Amino acid sequence: MQKITKNIYVETGFQGCNVGFVITSKGIVMIDTPMLPADAIKWRDQVAKHGIARYLINTEPHQDHFSGNYFYKCPIVAHEGTRNAILTTTSVDQYKESLKQMSPASLPLVRRFTFRPPDITFTERMTIHLGDHTFQLINFPGHTAYQTAVYIPEEKVVFTSDNISHNVPAWLHQALPYEWLETLQKMDELDAKVLVPGHGSVCDKTYLPEMSSIIQSWINVMTKAIKQGMNEEKIQKNIGSLLDTKLAGAGYDEVLLSMNVARLYEVLK
Ligand SMILES: [Zn+2]
Repeated sequence: MQKITKNIYVETGFQGCNVGFVITSKGIVMIDTPMLPADAIKWRDQVAKHGIARYLINTEPHQDHFSGNYFYKCPIVAHEGTRNAILTTTSVDQYKESLKQMSPASLPLVRRFTFRPPDITFTERMTIHLGDHTFQLINFPGHTAYQTAVYIPEEKVVFTSDNISHNVPAWLHQALPYEWLETLQKMDELDAKVLVPGHGSVCDKTYLPEMSSIIQSWINVMTKAIKQGMNEEKIQKNIGSLLDTKLAGAGYDEVLLSMNVARLYEVLK
């Protein structure tokens, strides 16, 4: 666990997404949850040492961010689209099956598991005032349509969700690529010294141009292939040689490459 400002702690070492919490004079606000139940319980105990959890914010509709909701009792806040995804795209049986591989130690903790949906939702913006802190929740489409940035002006910190994955491959399997580029520009306008990405180590605004160029590279690679008359099947088969040097050196595995290609072909064709 890393203390990134006077009142904010972040853990980037759990399997799954980054998680954090903010200590206010009226209690704790948590941002996202550890993916593995064994970690979610460790995290709950660590948070409890600093006060009572008052709110939990989910930044996006992917399981690695919200499966841990079950282990916390406070109200959960998220974009309406994230709530809908939790209600419609999850399967408890599949989740338990995946834990057999990922974390056998977690199995005894999920006997009565359910995916806990958010209690409070918004669509564009929402502000939570707690103690002396302000939490601006902003819908920033990109990685999905429902990404939520959590901006805490008093600490000059933004939790970016997976709109930033810092020095790790980017998931574009549900991306809105052009909106994503706009979002990264808007993030630059926030008065923030520290960015907490959805994955990868804590960074700052100097990484925004790099993240933009990764998304732009994906758009360029796919647009070029489509313009050359390649269909999706052909792009899928040849993607290894179509990637530019930036993307080729970024460590994408075959599954992720294929998902990114499928999505971008659908959006850009
Ligand atoms: Zn995600």
